[in-house]
Amino acid sequence: MTFASLGLIEPLLRTLETLDYRTPTPVQSQAIPAVLKGRDLMAAAQTGTGKTAGFALPLLQRLTLEGPKVAGNSVRALVLVPTRELAEQVHESFRTYGRDLPLRTYAVYGGVSINPQMMALRKGIDVLVATPGRLLDLYRQNAVRFEQLQALVLDEADRMLDLGFARELDELFCALPKKRQTLLFSATFSDAIRQMAGELLRDPLSVEV
Ligand code: AMP
Repeated sequence: MTFASLGLIEPLLRTLETLDYRTPTPVQSQAIPAVLKGRDLMAAAQTGTGKTAGFALPLLQRLTLEGPKVAGNSVRALVLVPTRELAEQVHESFRTYGRDLPLRTYAVYGGVSINPQMMALRKGIDVLVATPGRLLDLYRQNAVRFEQLQALVLDEADRMLDLGFARELDELFCALPKKRQTLLFSATFSDAIRQMAGELLRDPLSVEV
């Protein structure tokens, strides 16, 4: 199995080569073709499985190949994560994998001043990585718009619920367009996660690694 056989485009393949990623991991070989086709995904995958590249690579490709250009304050793909540390880490992955692509990526999280984040969002962002509480603050202050949203990723969904983000998540989901691609990653699948998946995903591909 190669990354080329999964359908990734040349600029991404070149980047993967310079990173010395030779073979897709199991979650990547299942997720990448499905996400490229626009399918929803429900994946049981822990950290260390390569799950971040499993969603970042195909989303970067779709955003590159499909217009329109992002409008002011808009977001085209949203990745929700439980913590500031994970937000920085996932954002760094998008920057690394997308370094040869003409896309804007950014991360927002609490515990730091909100004003620079509001300024950065003004130009529009192709991939926004966010913790739920700060994103909701930004949304309530009209700093972020979701009309152009094409894809939503929930990363470590079980940890987001464990940290008490259920209400913030519900309010955010209500603000998102119904027609979109949704990918849900979780280490464990409790009843609450299954219920969330049932509400958010349409005919998802299930991936277990
Ligand atoms: P993750 O599970 O997304 O946190 O990724 C775990 C680590 O594996 C990260 O440091 C990635 O840079 C690395 N990684 C992901 N996919 C591959 C791959 N196909 N080949 C080599 N390393 C990889």
